[in-house]
Amino acid sequence: MKLVLLIIGLVLLAVGAVGALVGLATASSAQAEYDFLCPTGPAPPQICAALLSTVATYQAVAIGMGIVAILGLGITITAAIMKGPLFVPAPVPVYAPMPPPPPMPPAGAATSKPCPECGRSNRSSDRFCSSCGAALS
Ligand SMILES: [Zn+2]
Repeated sequence: MKLVLLIIGLVLLAVGAVGALVGLATASSAQAEYDFLCPTGPAPPQICAALLSTVATYQAVAIGMGIVAILGLGITITAAIMKGPLFVPAPVPVYAPMPPPPPMPPAGAATSKPCPECGRSNRSSDRFCSSCGAALS
């Protein structure tokens, strides 16, 4: 979480700073062009108006990007002073406790055999059902 905030903040800061610089540079170059061409030069008024609107547009871009950069700086600082480690260690997988072993079958059950006639369990050593007397296979 902290690392994510830090990255977001740095990206916003970088994008905002670059955008603000580009906006300022473009605005000032348009301004310089305007100053050079318009007050005394032969430039038609449409070009001067376009230059002025370019200046205004890029100044607005520079301001907006400056706000983005400040926002990014704030996020970066917030992330930097946040408590907690930069890298959250991966949660240690918690293994479910081993399920209890299945209960041992009652002694003798493994060697019992059901009567084919009445279903009663008989000892495997028995040859006839103890309940109904049917022969056990
Ligand atoms: Zn039986």
